[in-house]
Amino acid sequence: MYRTARKNRSSGHAGKRLAALAVLFCFVAVSLLATVFIVTHARHNCIGEGCPICAQMRNAERMLKQIATAIVILLLLAAALLAIRMIPIKIAFFQSDAATLVAKKIRMNL
Ligand SMILES: [Zn+2]
Repeated sequence: MYRTARKNRSSGHAGKRLAALAVLFCFVAVSLLATVFIVTHARHNCIGEGCPICAQMRNAERMLKQIATAIVILLLLAAALLAIRMIPIKIAFFQSDAATLVAKKIRMNL
């Protein structure tokens, strides 16, 4: 029974990892395709106002800016989570300095 629960937990973890990789792949693919579209259509026969290629290029630029914003927000969240995880370690460090005499194994009855 323990093995089954452990196996299910590990397969769920693998599923989350696979989903994260799929999302990462989508971000990278969209970024690359948008960049390629902008670069390849930078010089086109523009018809002026209402040009569909210019409209698509603006959409691609907007999408790249949104992805960049999302990446910055994710990095800030990751830094905040890392900082939060560091706090208990520092608290434990200070608590070890304020240990009791018993914890430091100092005998008072000599
Ligand atoms: Zn155009």
